[in-house]
Amino acid sequence: MNGRKSGVVWPAHIPRWTHPWLRLWWPGTEWATDADSAVHLTFDDGPDPDVTPWVLDELAARGMKATFFVVGEQAERHPDLLAHIQAAGHTLGGHTMRHEHGWKTDVDPYVESAVASLETTSSSGVFRPPYGKFTRTQAKRLSTHARMVMWDVLSGDHAIRDDRGVEAARRRLRKHTRPGSIVVFHDSAKHGEGMRRLLPSYLDWLAGQGWTSTGLQG
Ligand SMILES: [Zn+2]
Repeated sequence: MNGRKSGVVWPAHIPRWTHPWLRLWWPGTEWATDADSAVHLTFDDGPDPDVTPWVLDELAARGMKATFFVVGEQAERHPDLLAHIQAAGHTLGGHTMRHEHGWKTDVDPYVESAVASLETTSSSGVFRPPYGKFTRTQAKRLSTHARMVMWDVLSGDHAIRDDRGVEAARRRLRKHTRPGSIVVFHDSAKHGEGMRRLLPSYLDWLAGQGWTSTGLQG
């Protein structure tokens, strides 16, 4: 996910009452789970040699697991990072090969790229569309290949410009996170700085609530 370049911007929080409607439009998509003492942290747009190892350390320090939606071409450049992510017990997911925007890409090439990205993850069977944007037809075609993981909470790490932005994002995260929430962060070079400013205190807050984070399996 990356809401910025994409025209229409998703809200920071997608309330649960809307999820059945979203699933009607995009069959097979998932926006939260029924977990009762865990959330599901997700990291998009990696792996990145500077950012991803830092995320792995932060998660390991608290015994939390996450799902990493990797961009296929980057995954192919950093097989060592993929191995680290898996060895640490996290889940890998596909995020297309080149971060394609579904609304701007024809169905066949989009599905091909999505399926190829799943193959770089040892066919984990979880997929997230870049920008959260794919068409109904693309979603239907992909639903036979993967569990399609959307989210209900955006950390906003991609849009942080200053200290006030950090504080606002922290408040939003705490306000909207519930057990079962699927939360979006980015472990990319581009958005890594905002993510670094949010993640440690958020993980500590989760632990303080008595919650952990678990990966999403295909
Ligand atoms: Zn993305």
